[in-house]
Amino acid sequence: MMHFEALTVFPGMFEPYLSASIMGRAREKGIFSFEAHDLRDWTHDRHRTVDDAPFGGGQGMLMKCVPFFEAIAELTPRTEERPHVVFFSPCGRRFTQEVARELIEHPRVLFVCGRYEGIDERAYELADETISLGDYVLTGGELAALCVIDACVRLLPGALGDEMSAQDESFADGLLEYAQYTRPANYEGREVPEVLLSGNHAAIAAWRRESSLERTARWRPDLLVDAGLSQKERDLVAELLRQEED
Ligand code: SAH
Repeated sequence: MMHFEALTVFPGMFEPYLSASIMGRAREKGIFSFEAHDLRDWTHDRHRTVDDAPFGGGQGMLMKCVPFFEAIAELTPRTEERPHVVFFSPCGRRFTQEVARELIEHPRVLFVCGRYEGIDERAYELADETISLGDYVLTGGELAALCVIDACVRLLPGALGDEMSAQDESFADGLLEYAQYTRPANYEGREVPEVLLSGNHAAIAAWRRESSLERTARWRPDLLVDAGLSQKERDLVAELLRQEED
């Protein structure tokens, strides 16, 4: 079982999301466990203060480093597995499916969620790695932790009802997913590609591969570089890109 933990000033934010739908079922099945720790438990003043004004002046408040040092020192030996400690920041490595695949190799991952203007730089010494969700600024790391946990859990064996579905998804083979359709086959003249109704599995697989290539070429041509395409597929993509240009 994979174990996730979060160190946060909003421990209640995680439960609703991680109890619902696929996350909730995976958790009930024992595929992963989750525990939120309230950072304020490692403060020593009456107001349980976790923030202070930045040295050098400037806007807003900064999270103090001491509660993080104390919390991680106390949490680390609670189980046999030392946690892989992940901080969040726009300065971090961009989160991708590849990073999710790496994270699930760790049996225990502890997410450190910042708030306010961020965290005293000295606390980053505790980080095994720092992740960014993308080039924008969030209010806190809780949402980032939930995104990362969600993407990781989908990759754990048994989390998705159908064992195959994670293999078919976008990025699984370095490409975007193919176009998908369900009933009705014809909605006011908008028809589903006929091959999908044919029952010919080889033809459907070929159509889907081509659909993946076409969508990736159109929307994310940067992904094609590492996608390991055959010569035939590279020719097809070159043709598709030429058509785009016209
Ligand atoms: N002042 C900081 C942003 C602080 S935002 C700066 O300009 O870089 C407060 C917290 O939200 C951060 O500590 C981090 O935990 C989280 N956060 C903000 N943007 C994020 C992003 N792009 N990816 C992941 N976490 C983010």
